[in-house]
Amino acid sequence: LGASACAEDGMIKFGTNPEFPPFEYISANGVLGEYDGIDMAIAAKIGELTGMDVEMESLEFDSLLIALQNGQIDATIAGMTITDERKEAVNFSTPYYTATQVMIVPEDSDIEKAEDMADKKICVIQGYTGETCVNEMGYKYEAFKKGTEAIMELVNGKCDVVVIDSATAQNYVNDNEGLKIVEDPDAFASEEYAIAVNKDNTELLDTINEAIDTMLEDGTISEIAAQYAEA
Ligand code: GLN
Repeated sequence: LGASACAEDGMIKFGTNPEFPPFEYISANGVLGEYDGIDMAIAAKIGELTGMDVEMESLEFDSLLIALQNGQIDATIAGMTITDERKEAVNFSTPYYTATQVMIVPEDSDIEKAEDMADKKICVIQGYTGETCVNEMGYKYEAFKKGTEAIMELVNGKCDVVVIDSATAQNYVNDNEGLKIVEDPDAFASEEYAIAVNKDNTELLDTINEAIDTMLEDGTISEIAAQYAEA
């Protein structure tokens, strides 16, 4: 019993939070039932490559690692950045995507660098690495449950800047008029997304890593990312 029971039966139960386009979101014609996005296509492909059935469960982003630790799910695939803190709780696969935090601001904003946020109203998403970054910079901020909620604050002029992952930011800027992205690579380090697995389940981690290595080498992941990314 426990975390590896399902995986041994030839099934991987993934947990995700489908509020993070283009990596995971709900769609009528998703690649995995109602789930669509880069991560969902990668999960489907892992199923194909390993011959295991893939199931997806929707959870709060904040709850994913807890669900993994208590065996409710076998793995997470959720645009999740590898961090030292998270590494204490779970094992991460080979990274499959590189991202960075960026600032979304109104088109007429005077924010050009991360330090320009000092006297601004900052919005982040609870539990995301963007929250950790802003926290470490020592700025006050408001944390929202969902990216769309933070973007609404920005669109309605109730906040000055949203700090969030690059590809997701591009998605929100494309979907909402009057916003732009400001990058500050000196302030925001690059981040790597990986699949997380329970520390006791090294067999599943090996299986997943083998599939990821194959997909990195044969270009599958680049193809999937290009297919879903918005310019
Ligand atoms: N990459 C960010 C993190 O790991 C956001 C991930 C997400 O919301 N899915 O915290």
